[in-house]
Amino acid sequence: MTLPTYEKRRILICDDEAGILDAYHRIFADLVADTADDANSDYDALSADLFGDGPATEAAVIDEIVTCRQGEEAVEAVRAAKASGQPFGVVFLDVRMPPGIDGVEAARQIRTIEPIINIVIVTGYSDHRPTEIAGKVGTVDRLFYLVKPFDADEVRQMATTLVNRWTSDSRIASELAAQVEALEALNEALRVSEASAHQAARRDPLTDLLNRTGLEEQFDRAARQARANNAGVSLLYLDLDRFKLVNDTHGHGIGDQLIREVAGRLSTAVMDDGFVARLGGDEFAIVCETAKLDTVLARILATADGPFVTGPHHLPVSFSIGYSGGGDDADLQEYMRQADVALYVAKDAGRGIARAFDPYLDQIFLRDQMLAQDLKEAIDENRLYLNYQPLMCIDGKRVTGVEALLRWDHDVHGVISPEIFVAIAEKNGLMGELGDWVLRRAFEDARAWPDVITSINLSVLQFSKPDFAETVLALARDMGAIAGKIEFEITETAMTNDIAAFLVQVEILREAGFRFALDDFGSGYASIGYLSRLNFHKLKIDRSFVSALSTKPDSDRMIRSIVSLGAAMGLTITAEGVEDVIQHDILKTVGCDQLQGFLFHKPCSRSEMEEILNREGMPRPHAA
Ligand code: C2E
Ligand code: CA
Ligand code: CA
Repeated sequence: MTLPTYEKRRILICDDEAGILDAYHRIFADLVADTADDANSDYDALSADLFGDGPATEAAVIDEIVTCRQGEEAVEAVRAAKASGQPFGVVFLDVRMPPGIDGVEAARQIRTIEPIINIVIVTGYSDHRPTEIAGKVGTVDRLFYLVKPFDADEVRQMATTLVNRWTSDSRIASELAAQVEALEALNEALRVSEASAHQAARRDPLTDLLNRTGLEEQFDRAARQARANNAGVSLLYLDLDRFKLVNDTHGHGIGDQLIREVAGRLSTAVMDDGFVARLGGDEFAIVCETAKLDTVLARILATADGPFVTGPHHLPVSFSIGYSGGGDDADLQEYMRQADVALYVAKDAGRGIARAFDPYLDQIFLRDQMLAQDLKEAIDENRLYLNYQPLMCIDGKRVTGVEALLRWDHDVHGVISPEIFVAIAEKNGLMGELGDWVLRRAFEDARAWPDVITSINLSVLQFSKPDFAETVLALARDMGAIAGKIEFEITETAMTNDIAAFLVQVEILREAGFRFALDDFGSGYASIGYLSRLNFHKLKIDRSFVSALSTKPDSDRMIRSIVSLGAAMGLTITAEGVEDVIQHDILKTVGCDQLQGFLFHKPCSRSEMEEILNREGMPRPHAA
């Protein structure tokens, strides 16, 4: 920083009498520095060398004298000098300068412009008393009096003293100003770093969205504002479906990119109607005015249309959303709890679904939490068991395979459908354990019927563990299972997400000899292109198509096209849920390969299954 330099010593003299101004000039003549301009300076330097510094130069204490004859002019001169950066250090003001303002008033005005200027009031005996003058000018500081008629030495002495005093005052003042400036700069720097620390504490570094702390603050603000407008706010809790799979299989780098991309799209979708925060992992919260909820929601759901591209990966992404309008006196915590419960239930309903909170959901949530806990215990205590349902050849007379179906007899609730408790296991992080239990048990049981294929249902979530395939191979080895006699069934609806990663594991298992079936085919959205990438062995036509056969005319057309599609791809076609002879006949006609259903056998225990297999070849009643 450069200090302002007030090195030029300037004196202003104001008196209405030209003669007096002349007198000042004469008195100060030997105090004023040679005003030689640049053209003479070489000569000055030379003469100083030859003759030494002349007395005028040596004694010079004044660089410039400016004179004027009216108080107003003096005020203006002070103002202009200050503006030009060359302020006056001393001003001599005659008290009486008709017709304009008097010296006292001029002094008062000058003081407001220049706080450190030395003002000399030149008075006659009969003029104002000094105390009076000081009262009017504002302060006695730097205010002096010279009584006319004055003595030349006295005036010179005064001018010299005051000019020197001003020089040191102005230096101190400019140093002070510099210090103040430095302090202010320091303060500002502190403020900025504090602000950025404050900002950083409220931002998620990955996405630059608000974090939880930021959300808390903004939420309070939004809620207050909404209340003032007699409106309400809504909170949306959003997470990516099966994000863990992306992360586990593509690595965290791709996972992070995906999260950033999602964050950007969410912000765009929410626009100015609210704000987005990232709560961690793949969880986001969005706050908006309740009146805007529907439009915001629609835009968010639309934003998941189309794959998210990160480098070479096209990741089909869907969001599940739970949201809540809070209700009376709800604080952020309650909003979050409600939205979280709604999200939990939304996930149950499939992917890409938004669900509003309603108090009834609390019961579902609570029930699930308790069931999840009970299920964990049941797994640990080995209280689950498997049933087996035969898969028949097309005439329904011979068992060609068995499907393992998981069972849980709850102490209080009785038998709970696997459709319910498998979903609970999936949502509560129990699928790995549960799945391993099924594999171990089914591998073990399968040894009892080495001639038929044993089908085991797998949840895609089991594939989230990067070492899942290894685990299966190890379990099969431990339990003595023959890979070629095991078929894994995977539900079609579970599989529209990141298939590439999933296929890596499938491939390992296929190479080891395991077979794969696409379960519940037709209930999801698998495209033909998708089907061919899966490279499975079998399609199981969803039960709903089979049951439609006996109720809806023309429904065999759908099954026909599935069968011809499957045949073209070299897949075995199994129809499940066959309950009556009409269905059986149609399925036979359209060219299915395999059948499963109550018409032939209901799921039964392992020992019953063994009995059935021992009787294998016995004609079934309807086929007789
Ligand atoms: P899924 O894989 O489609 O299994 C066939 C389901 O259809 C079984 O229901 C079976 O009892 C039922 N079923 C068989 N024939 C008929 C019929 O003629 N009519 C009717 N109405 N139903 C029939 P279940 O045992 O209740 O299992 C339901 C679902 O639970 C299974 O559907 C499967 O998705 C899941 N699941 C069962 N066991 C496991 C398991 O060990 N692991 C996993 N991940 N999921 C399982
Ligand atoms: Ca199945
Ligand atoms: Ca099925």
